Amino acid sequence: MESVQLSKRLERVAAYIPENARLADIGSDHAYLPCALVQRKAISFAVAGEVVKGPFEKALNEVKLRNLENQIEVRFGDGVEVIQLDDQITAISICGMGGALIRDILDRGLSQKKLSRTETLVLQPNVGEKTLRTFLMNQSYKIIAEEIVEENDKIYEIIVAEPSSESVTYTDHELTFGLFLLSNKTAVFKKKWLQELDKLHYILAQLNKSAQPDTDKQAKINKEITIIKETIQ
Ligand code: SAM
Repeated sequence: MESVQLSKRLERVAAYIPENARLADIGSDHAYLPCALVQRKAISFAVAGEVVKGPFEKALNEVKLRNLENQIEVRFGDGVEVIQLDDQITAISICGMGGALIRDILDRGLSQKKLSRTETLVLQPNVGEKTLRTFLMNQSYKIIAEEIVEENDKIYEIIVAEPSSESVTYTDHELTFGLFLLSNKTAVFKKKWLQELDKLHYILAQLNKSAQPDTDKQAKINKEITIIKETIQ
């Protein structure tokens, strides 16, 4: 059977799934990530969760096509509600969604006790990284790795977190930029924040044109611009 080829982004996500994990991939779409990991014998069991009919059926078809039904269970449902206690899930991946949506999925999972607070979280928000990092900190998850990758002119961050028995504190700067990403400011990291600067300059120009400029907003954006410039210089 032909092996599943992962995109560069999902390949980097795959690198952070712990060896022999029992994985729940939430918002799995084609179930490419669990299929590739099981085919590579990197993991032995996965749940692929989907809340939308079309992607759910694509996931079912992919798993069937690869003859992986014994190791991958495709389940229809919202977020981590698809996880059952006897799945003994040890890692959860949630990729390709906004940070606020990932936060809400995890938050519901924690309040509904679908998460045991032992799982490694491998998250890839498309936007809203600060929102997600803030949630992880407030829930005492320690960020253990981060990576920034570019694929097809889009830039993605990967955040890996583990539950901590102690409280976790990050600075506002670390929550915005990522503590690991700050310690290794790659060309892709700088490119992302240069693009952000462009957006902020555009917003500022629009505000400056206004007959009654919102001075608080102007000051806030100017501050953000200064922080980004200082960070990437
Ligand atoms: N995880 C894959 C990846 O990174 O390539 C697919 C990403 S796709 C852009 C996002 C998927 O998440 C969609 O298939 C969508 O239906 C699913 N999704 C969105 N909200 C969800 C939720 N609350 N529970 C489960 N799946 C969800």
